[in-house]
Amino acid sequence: MDSIETPLGVLQHTFGYDQFREPQAQVIDTLVAGGDALVIMPTGGGKSLCYQIPALVREGVGVIISPLIALMRDQVNALNQLGVSAAYLNSTLDHDQIWQIEQQIASGEIDLLYIAPERLLQARTLQLLAQLNIALFAIDEAHCVSQWGHDFRADYLNLGILHERFPAVPRIALTATADERTRGEIVKRLGLQQAASFLCGFDRPNIQYRITQKSNARQQLLQFLKHEHANDAGIVYCLSRKKVEDVASWMSAEGYTALPYHAGLSTQIRQNHQDRFLREDGVIIVATVAFGMGIDKPDVRFVAHLDLPKSLEAYYQETGRAGRDGLPSNAWMVYGVQDVIKLRQMLEMSNGDDQHKRAERYKLDAMLGLCEITTCRRQALLHYFGDPAEAKCGNCDACLIPIETWDGSEAAQKALSCAYRTGQRFGVNHLVDVLLGKDGDKIQQFGHDTLSVHGLGKDLDVTQWRSVFRQLVARGYLTVDVSGFGSLLLTEKCRPVLKGEESLHLRKDRKAERKGRGSKSIRTKVTFTGHDETLWQALRVIRKDLADEQAVPPYIIFGDATLKEMVSAQPISETQMLNIIGVGETKLERYGDAFMGAIREHQVDILDKV
Ligand code: ADP
Ligand code: ZN
Repeated sequence: MDSIETPLGVLQHTFGYDQFREPQAQVIDTLVAGGDALVIMPTGGGKSLCYQIPALVREGVGVIISPLIALMRDQVNALNQLGVSAAYLNSTLDHDQIWQIEQQIASGEIDLLYIAPERLLQARTLQLLAQLNIALFAIDEAHCVSQWGHDFRADYLNLGILHERFPAVPRIALTATADERTRGEIVKRLGLQQAASFLCGFDRPNIQYRITQKSNARQQLLQFLKHEHANDAGIVYCLSRKKVEDVASWMSAEGYTALPYHAGLSTQIRQNHQDRFLREDGVIIVATVAFGMGIDKPDVRFVAHLDLPKSLEAYYQETGRAGRDGLPSNAWMVYGVQDVIKLRQMLEMSNGDDQHKRAERYKLDAMLGLCEITTCRRQALLHYFGDPAEAKCGNCDACLIPIETWDGSEAAQKALSCAYRTGQRFGVNHLVDVLLGKDGDKIQQFGHDTLSVHGLGKDLDVTQWRSVFRQLVARGYLTVDVSGFGSLLLTEKCRPVLKGEESLHLRKDRKAERKGRGSKSIRTKVTFTGHDETLWQALRVIRKDLADEQAVPPYIIFGDATLKEMVSAQPISETQMLNIIGVGETKLERYGDAFMGAIREHQVDILDKV
């Protein structure tokens, strides 16, 4: 690497990008000048360049500490593709390999070294580093120092040692975790009091958020995939292992490559499914929340939830796995009254002290609030995370097709009285039957056909009543008892509604997303048509072949954004090729001919046809 190159020069020549994103340039300048930095940036924001470029511009080796072993290998692969000399040290290597890499490091051949925290802290490694010229230390996934978080790593607590041993080496800590407490902990534990802090907004504008009422979840999912993501990679989240298995085999029967992933599967199977997800095109992972951490696949086009997550934190993290490459992607979810009841039930029945339950209840309420909201979903999400987000987003279901409301005060009174008159001992199905005036066995057995509420609700149909109950439970007018039978109980909040002192505006649920008008206008179509589609597919095949030859994931050769630009610009000279985003000098040299060849052939084919 030419050490006099500027950060912008490296960005353009090595990485093949035109310009920095906010605030990459400032972060890089800080480090190049020898200062420390704390960077909080959303997933897909471009954190890696913040340390990779200063490490290349400064003398010596850049040391990156990361807890995610699979990701390390990927990053090193990607850097090698760009012609950057990078390596990693972690527990997957044997003695010989480690010895070899240590030799290369000692002789100054390595510009970027990825290392697991436990390896870094070994006396032997620290000794090796002490003899070297170090460009910087980057502490990735810095939230792992937080003992309160889910990803706590004890070794991270000892990373303060870097500052003591190498006071002159600039350090950068990076994470996508926003909250203030974690930020404070990072600064304190890593001794970053003097660091310049870069806190970015948390919006992921390329992700379209959609939440729909459940009618037939599987059919709804199928329609969604068929119309919008026919050949795309994605993740489908379910709550239980059994459901993961069921959904995965059903999807396979429907012709998709759908692989299950949950903690009950052997390490080997999980590894295999994860590898296939990374390496093959269009694989869908059906998973419990066990799947996700350390998956850095940039071209996940959709994240679908068949069950509600327990909190907005979980929802945002899970949906955030879509669209790291910045291209249009979907976060899609269906939910219904049973989901709401199930989550409330799980919460009430969980053992845990009152304080804990209160915190959980607050989180669940926020999650349900997002589902039931009638205004911009993104704004609500961002507000929850402390981002002022002043404008509507224009890219969520509520913005795209405004949600209507209706005065549900009277319906709510009927529903609440029905629960009350039947002794607060019944679940939603029975209550709806009573309101509709049904006279089945169970109704007769309990004499519910003699109640004043029996048949009082014939003005609405089953779906509408279920929607009313769902909203009452979601908003906390009704709660679920701890017996496990799903009986609905009135809460204190009901009083003013029953007395007619409070009016309730309920959302009007949309008809299920089928071939209906509604869904069509929201659809995001990210693929090409006609000749462009032919070229797109041809380029994908070349990419896959090149990737297979080297046993790396396709996106390591070129990302979708790069391939898309090739389809639109159809570069056939080296200069034109270098103008494509993501094509730097090394990649041009290695792959330029293969792709330009395919583009020329395609052009000839089209001429032949006209
Ligand atoms: P993070 O680690 O913050 O999740 P990455 O560093 O993996 O994000 O970057 C996300 C994607 O954005 C990658 O595909 C990366 O190559 C791309 N990217 C980053 N910075 C730029 C830039 N300045 N111009 C174009 N693409 C960029
Ligand atoms: Zn919106």
